[in-house]
Amino acid sequence: MNVEALKAAIRADAEIFAEKIARQTITAFAEELKGLVTPGGPAKSDACKIEGCPKPVVAKGFCASHYQKARNKAKAREAKKLEAANGEPAAVPA
Ligand SMILES: [Zn+2]
Repeated sequence: MNVEALKAAIRADAEIFAEKIARQTITAFAEELKGLVTPGGPAKSDACKIEGCPKPVVAKGFCASHYQKARNKAKAREAKKLEAANGEPAAVPA
């Protein structure tokens, strides 16, 4: 085998290898993006309903950080309600 033929063979192999890696990278990236979009949720073009927040919606119209804040507020409200109803045999909400 002469050197030129060997070089050509190596180049061809390298090209196939590079294409394989590129495809894997693109596929992995696409999978990652899919995971970021809530299935059946709002379109990813929707922005958080908090004014001035440009982050994409994750749940109930909020972005991840504002949804977390809203959840914490709701939890605090629920805790206060339970406190107020303390002593009564009220069912504890899940
Ligand atoms: Zn937000």
